[in-house]
Amino acid sequence: MFNGVCYGLFIGMIFYNLMLLWVFKESLYFYNGMSCWFALLALSGINGHLGRYVLTNHAGVIPVLLPTVIVLWLAFAGMFGRGFLGLPKIAPKLSMCVLAILPLSGVAVALAALGQLPASLAMIQLLTLIGPVLMVAGAIIALRHGFKSAYWYLFGVASLFSATIFSTLNNNGILNFPIQYDALQVAALFEFSVFVIAMGSRIRGIRQQNGELSQRAVRLAKTARTDPLTGVYNRAGWAHHAAQVLERSDGVALLLIDLDKFKPVNDQYGHAAGDQVLKKVAERLRTEIDTHGIVARLGGDEFVILVEQPGDSQALAAQASKLIELISQPVPYDGHALRISASIGIARAPQDGTDLGMLMQAADRAMYAIKENGRAGHGFASAA
Ligand code: GH3
Ligand code: MG
Repeated sequence: MFNGVCYGLFIGMIFYNLMLLWVFKESLYFYNGMSCWFALLALSGINGHLGRYVLTNHAGVIPVLLPTVIVLWLAFAGMFGRGFLGLPKIAPKLSMCVLAILPLSGVAVALAALGQLPASLAMIQLLTLIGPVLMVAGAIIALRHGFKSAYWYLFGVASLFSATIFSTLNNNGILNFPIQYDALQVAALFEFSVFVIAMGSRIRGIRQQNGELSQRAVRLAKTARTDPLTGVYNRAGWAHHAAQVLERSDGVALLLIDLDKFKPVNDQYGHAAGDQVLKKVAERLRTEIDTHGIVARLGGDEFVILVEQPGDSQALAAQASKLIELISQPVPYDGHALRISASIGIARAPQDGTDLGMLMQAADRAMYAIKENGRAGHGFASAA
């Protein structure tokens, strides 16, 4: 009954690993599934069930089969641990040592096949002691690298390792408990169960990491497109978002804004005062335009706005006048009320241009015409 439940749980865990393998396509789950499978064969062999019920007419192969499945259990467990803890990356030398278990396991099997059973068994016992020590070292290194799921792994390996030592001492007559194989079986089952938790914890960790990475990528992309001084789009942000607006809108208007005589503000009150004016201007533009379009600072004291559904020339002219009025509001700075005006050139799609480059050129012409005519006003590209 006890053994039946144990074997059933082993089979369940093999299926669980196969499912994970199918979903995540990671060799890790294959290794753990195989390790589980060979553990089942080894334990049923040790318990005598393999010879009694499965290989009834081939009981002679058991002495060779048993060492083989034990070393395969060990080898796959090593491969699983190596992959789970990411040893090739964080501890390449240790990873090589784990890989060395594979040829040594082959030697142990060859010895069994050649009838050298005592030598084979001694070697297997040695490997079952060395293997967990390597894996415990790997788990500690992984923990030091911040891989929290390694705690679970360590816990699982430690439990089976204790049972292995217990069984080895029992086999060599140092201890004399009659339930030695049950202890190994329960510990193996416990280890695989803990690995299930460890794998779940690892998947959760990977998900969390991916979430954090994509959040960071979004933040970085946003930063790359934002003017750090004013918080509106910079040139890159402008190019990206303006292209999107142009693509989805039938009619847009581009308003190119250059502050009038901004240099004297810097000269008279200092660069910080100029910065304060730029920040305030950007804030006022953004509040005014809100969801009707996008605002960007192209550099220096030059801003640009792309308005969706701008309405007719009259509505646009009113909008431009409103913007100039807002910009002209005093900016408090260090006890002073800084005043600035602006010149705005307006270009419309499709009449003044159908792409951003053409619209910018047209608006630039209109803006410079205003500058030449005394500043503090707006003008249409079509009239320039
Ligand atoms: P105009 O009326 O012809 O536009 O003259 P202006 O004085 O505004 O001069 P212009 O637009 O040619 O030059 C803008 C100045 O803005 C030049 C530069 O010293 C200053 N500037 C550029 N970037 C910054 C900045 O980030 N902060 C501050 N405070 N000043 C800046
Ligand atoms: Mg200027």
